[in-house]
Amino acid sequence: MSAIYLDYAATTPVDPGVIEAMLPYFRDTFGNPSSIHSFGQQARSAVENAREKVASFLGAKPAEIIFTSGGTESNNFAIKGVAWANRKKGNHIVTSAIEHHAVMEPCHFLEREGFEVTFLPVDSRGFVDPQDVAKAITGRTVLVSIMHANNEIGTLQPVTDIGMIARERGVCFHTDAVQTFGHMPFTVGDLNVDLLSLSAHKLYGPKGVGALFVRQGTRLEPHMHGGEQEGKRRASTHNVPGIVGLAKAVELAEKAMAEEDIRIMALRNRLIRGIFDKIDRVRLNGHPEKRLANNVNVSMEYCEGEAMILSLDLMGIACSTGSACSSTSVEPSHVLRAIGLSVEETRGSLRFSLGRYTQEQEIDKVLEVLPRIVKRLRAMSPAYRSSAAVKGTGG
Ligand SMILES: *Cc1c(COP(=O)(O)O)cnc(C)c1O
Repeated sequence: MSAIYLDYAATTPVDPGVIEAMLPYFRDTFGNPSSIHSFGQQARSAVENAREKVASFLGAKPAEIIFTSGGTESNNFAIKGVAWANRKKGNHIVTSAIEHHAVMEPCHFLEREGFEVTFLPVDSRGFVDPQDVAKAITGRTVLVSIMHANNEIGTLQPVTDIGMIARERGVCFHTDAVQTFGHMPFTVGDLNVDLLSLSAHKLYGPKGVGALFVRQGTRLEPHMHGGEQEGKRRASTHNVPGIVGLAKAVELAEKAMAEEDIRIMALRNRLIRGIFDKIDRVRLNGHPEKRLANNVNVSMEYCEGEAMILSLDLMGIACSTGSACSSTSVEPSHVLRAIGLSVEETRGSLRFSLGRYTQEQEIDKVLEVLPRIVKRLRAMSPAYRSSAAVKGTGG
């Protein structure tokens, strides 16, 4: 068996159909969409077709889609853009304690600029309580930003309810939908959002391209200054092949989504069941049902996540501990801490994220290899040996 990739939440391989769709825009239709000659106009029409595709998939208007360099930029643009545009109205932002770094850090940046940010706590399964959002909003609140699904533990947030509350109070509502866009069916109307971030490389498109939905009438200060692209809202020459690739990925997702969701969820459940059957002293992080169809996040007692990752990698299996962003830092995951895990418990966590190319025999391979790795690592842990002796389980 070739290498097994179970880190789709970090990034996905580019679908061959997406690569095919992109190639002509490197070779032949390479013009700058802002040029008025035919090279430019052909590129422009590709960008506008892509905009229509993304907009219709989201139930939005084409003019409400701004292409960006990815999820991180979309989040930065939404948060800083709304905050700066509403300075006269207020200086308060409401978000959660479990957002992606691409939301947390713009919020921390704005705190240094004098904004106040409320980081709402979540319950043990990672839910934000909409009533907490209602209580946190004040007359000075300019933005609520709550992610659609968490990238580490997969919990799906009640964004529709939160959006309703924000709208009643006249506050802008942004959601980071990078993990759900192209994976679950929804429109911006369903979610009651004013702004929504998405990224191509999480749905079998290329890296470095994404979009921000901005509801008509939403005040947003540009964060990139330069040319007049994207209706003067976001300067810089369009990433034409990337934008075409994003639209193609959306088209493929539209066709595959429903079936893929069922297939992947069955594999996910097989993996969860197998882990619980074969390994003791393990917990599932997040909610058993209200979670992404492809996400498995577990904590193993007396095992280091890093050690498990490296052992799995030697066996050709790729997954992650916490999130990819924490792979170079030793800080415990802020998400796992927020759902109540101790620092010790966060260290033994693994995230498997499944996708389009995941096969049943790959899941079975993980279920064969992982218990052996856990057993070996625990055997080397003095703390496990003494606790196992006390419990009398021995193994
Ligand atoms: C991957 C991810 C991002 C960042 O998107 P990039 O396109 O990699 O910048 C933001 N939010 C969530 C929830 C993600 O999973």
